[in-house]
Amino acid sequence: MITGIYPGSFDPITLGHLDIIKRSAKLVDHLVIGVLNNSAKKPMFTAKERVEMIRLSIVGLENVSVETFDGLTVEFAKRKKATVMFRGLRAVTDFEYEIQIAQTNHALNPEIDTVFLTTSVQYSYLSSSIVKEVASYKGEISKFVPASILPAVLKKFESIRGV
Ligand code: ADP
Repeated sequence: MITGIYPGSFDPITLGHLDIIKRSAKLVDHLVIGVLNNSAKKPMFTAKERVEMIRLSIVGLENVSVETFDGLTVEFAKRKKATVMFRGLRAVTDFEYEIQIAQTNHALNPEIDTVFLTTSVQYSYLSSSIVKEVASYKGEISKFVPASILPAVLKKFESIRGV
């Protein structure tokens, strides 16, 4: 039984994340998506909202679950009895940061390996920041996020604008 984790901020989940989730889920028996509950990153969506949006996005993916975590990712992985952690790589610019994290995590716990999946080309430009940027100018974001979470994202922006 191999358990993997896919940690991140998911503020909010995008189609790029969902692509990595579906592909990672095929490589392990159970995939746990870990939503980092880190207020230092000043997320727009609360951890609860981010989890709920992921839940709506993973309907039908039988071996995938989602939960929040605080603190070190390797500790979360250990609690979940995971031996592998997935991360997505979009561009060369992701590489330096990601390799640093992977090596730190390996130093902290050599039992857990990081596996990088390269982004599918159609999502290589996509990030949560891009979604928020476009939505803040009332741009069309249906090509960027799962259809099931569209209402939640739009509602958030309406509440911020005070509509
Ligand atoms: P973090 O704050 O940990 O970087 P993110 O939610 O931004 O969390 O991203 C989680 C993971 O998903 C990271 O490994 C990131 O590189 C990857 N990722 C984000 N967007 C995409 C995408 N469009 N295609 C592939 N991987 C992606």
